[in-house]
Amino acid sequence: MGGCMSHLPASCLWQGALPAVAPSSLPPVAEECDVAIIGAGYTGLWTAYYLKRQDPALHVQVFEAAHAGFGASGRNGGWLIGGIAGQDAWLASLDEDAREATRQLLYGIVDEVKTVCEREGIGCDLAHGGVLYAARGVAQARRARAWLTDLQRAGHTAADFRWLSASELAAQLQIADGLGAVFSPHCATLHPLKLVQGLLHTVRRMGVRVHEACPVAGFGKGRVRLQGGEVRARWIVPALEGASTTLPELKGRVQPAQSLIVATEPLSAAQWDAIGLAGRAAFSDLSRGVTYGQRTADGRLLFGARGGYQFAGRPRWDFDPQGDEFSLRTELMRQFFPQLQDVRITHAWGGSLGLARGFTPFALRDRSRGVACAGGYGGEGVGASNLMGRTLADLICERETLLTRQRWVEGEAGLSSLRRWEPEPLRYLGYHAIRSAFVLDDALADRQDIPARLRRLVGAGADALEGLMH
Ligand SMILES: Cc1cc2nc3c(=O)[nH]c(=O)nc-3n(C[C@H](O)[C@H](O)[C@H](O)COP(=O)(O)OP(=O)(O)OC[C@H]3O[C@@H](n4cnc5c(N)ncnc54)[C@H](O)[C@@H]3O)c2cc1C
Repeated sequence: MGGCMSHLPASCLWQGALPAVAPSSLPPVAEECDVAIIGAGYTGLWTAYYLKRQDPALHVQVFEAAHAGFGASGRNGGWLIGGIAGQDAWLASLDEDAREATRQLLYGIVDEVKTVCEREGIGCDLAHGGVLYAARGVAQARRARAWLTDLQRAGHTAADFRWLSASELAAQLQIADGLGAVFSPHCATLHPLKLVQGLLHTVRRMGVRVHEACPVAGFGKGRVRLQGGEVRARWIVPALEGASTTLPELKGRVQPAQSLIVATEPLSAAQWDAIGLAGRAAFSDLSRGVTYGQRTADGRLLFGARGGYQFAGRPRWDFDPQGDEFSLRTELMRQFFPQLQDVRITHAWGGSLGLARGFTPFALRDRSRGVACAGGYGGEGVGASNLMGRTLADLICERETLLTRQRWVEGEAGLSSLRRWEPEPLRYLGYHAIRSAFVLDDALADRQDIPARLRRLVGAGADALEGLMH
């Protein structure tokens, strides 16, 4: 049961340092199993891991079109966040006890991943240094204050998110126009592909059959269609995230959007002294651009920014490292760090992440179809996929737990309970309208030659659009 094989590009930093991943030929596909998982990214592998932890006798198979980590899991920015997108509106609506339990569950993601890595001997350069959301300029500082108020309303304390003054920020990160930052300890940075590969070896050791270069053509009740035949399974777990539109059964539920990253050559100790990040904290600014960065274990600065939606939600995995999209990110990185003006960019790559229509992740069990799935992490899937993998394992093993009682678990209506995205061309037009409003707002922020009233108006419009996304 072969298939066309694709590899992570060498221009992806994470792949560059590791030996090319060869597809495995063993063991053979079994015609019947308990759980068939589609996709060997974090969601698929975490689900397999927790299923086997709960019931070692379960027969689990994973079918991966390319190789483990070919998707977003092998390409991302390596932020392991102790939280999930859109959590604060939920938290604010819970009573105090439930809110506290959910907060601990979310913050606990980082420790859970650390614990598994230690237990299973997975080395992925994990550094638990927290995250700095820097306020670059007055408009971003204003946004930071409003955000802190929302965070308090959601029950987060100053131990979870706190304001750092400009000098406190500078002691950790020297970023241009930094007026302060929101700091949270609930984040770590890691090498994403090493985590995928460690999980792959771990689940194989536990007896999970992971079949690479083995694309799934579709699935129906109790059946997964492969190129050369069919596999029967009690449960089917599509774990495709940014590639969900490629299977007809998931079309319209999770939309791919792209994010792109550049990485510098390894920097000298003196260059790092001029930047900071001694504890390898993750960093971002508070623009609308969804920027993110980390200091890698081998001393490079990695910098990424969201951007890109393809008509009809086609996922995208190939990028031209010399293209304008990367020049833009490099330019932005140099605005953040003028001290890196002459530093060489050695890697540039991108990938597709998945957005649910509700802009928050979900996990669901659809008994009538024999399907359990999760996704819609909105670019914050490194940690969320661990939480959802645990949740799916509980749902499949029919365990009632704190995880299965959470708001992110859709009711038994299953797949049909997932809101559908608007049809094209509305999605395409909507995406570009929102993106243009965000770019305009970022460009006008702090521009003294533009009337303050006009800047406020654009800011309020962008706020309203952002509000729609939570
Ligand atoms: C550039 C970028 C930066 C990011 N940065 C961060 C970050 O710093 N922190 C964070 O939390 N999140 C980040 N994300 C998001 C995060 O990486 C994803 O949410 C997460 O990896 C999703 O994991 P997954 O297993 O659900 O999907 P994926 O990792 O995309 O896995 C899906 C798998 O399914 C396979 N597949 C597709 N079609 C088929 C088929 N028909 N049959 C079989 N297999 C198939 C694919 O090859 C792929 O391996 C980023 C994403 C991108 C693209």
